[in-house]
Amino acid sequence: MKKTEQLYEGKAKKVFATEDKDFVIVSYKDDATALDGLKKGTIGGKGVVNNRMSNFLMQILEKEGVPTHFVEELSERETLVRKVSIVPLEVIIRNVSAGHFAQRYGVEEGIVFDEPTIEFSYKNDDLHDPLLNEYHALALKLATKEEISKIKAMAFKGNEVLKAYFLKLGVRLIDFKLEFGKLSDGKIVLADEISPDTCRFWDVNTNEKLDKDRFRRDMGGVEDAYNEMMRRVFHE
Ligand code: UDP
Repeated sequence: MKKTEQLYEGKAKKVFATEDKDFVIVSYKDDATALDGLKKGTIGGKGVVNNRMSNFLMQILEKEGVPTHFVEELSERETLVRKVSIVPLEVIIRNVSAGHFAQRYGVEEGIVFDEPTIEFSYKNDDLHDPLLNEYHALALKLATKEEISKIKAMAFKGNEVLKAYFLKLGVRLIDFKLEFGKLSDGKIVLADEISPDTCRFWDVNTNEKLDKDRFRRDMGGVEDAYNEMMRRVFHE
């Protein structure tokens, strides 16, 4: 399927229409933003890593019974996906304390939780993606009760599958963000991406960070971290 007009340009991706209204093409950029858009830069080759890794992980999840928007990888940076209307919730699953969780609750990073946690943010740049709970999401009509319960089940299932998968690669899945979309028939599928931009990955032996925190925190070795994750996933 061929690209027609550009529908949208986001921080890390462009989205193009196709000749079929039920499908769009996503094109991954090397642009990176962090700290609520205050920090901007590029990470060389990131678009390729995120596109290929996300597609690979989405296919694993599909096999394990988590439906996704993925259809076909078209090139290093471009993927055909099913067109969805994005549920305006950022869904964050955490296995270990880090980032905003550690800041918000005044605890150190690296505390292993007995059970994974889930939290929602309202996807709204003007409001800086405020944290909200299920009742708030219902009150704001961001999703129905049934949709929220499907989203929670899919997010926790995805966590179990991905956690086990990454552990085999010597990587601890600390936390990650998911987004979900609705197909024209109302079915909820996993959308957006799963990549070092949206996950925290720590090496199982050294706890070295292999994700976007290296960019957020000016740690250096950003491209190397993305390439290392690519190498482990594709056994290159
Ligand atoms: N995350 C993301 N997009 C966001 C916010 C968070 O992909 O807009 C991911 C982030 O990479 C991490 C997880 O969600 O893996 C939890 O992030 P946290 O709430 O700690 O916020 P951060 O410190 O990443 O801003």
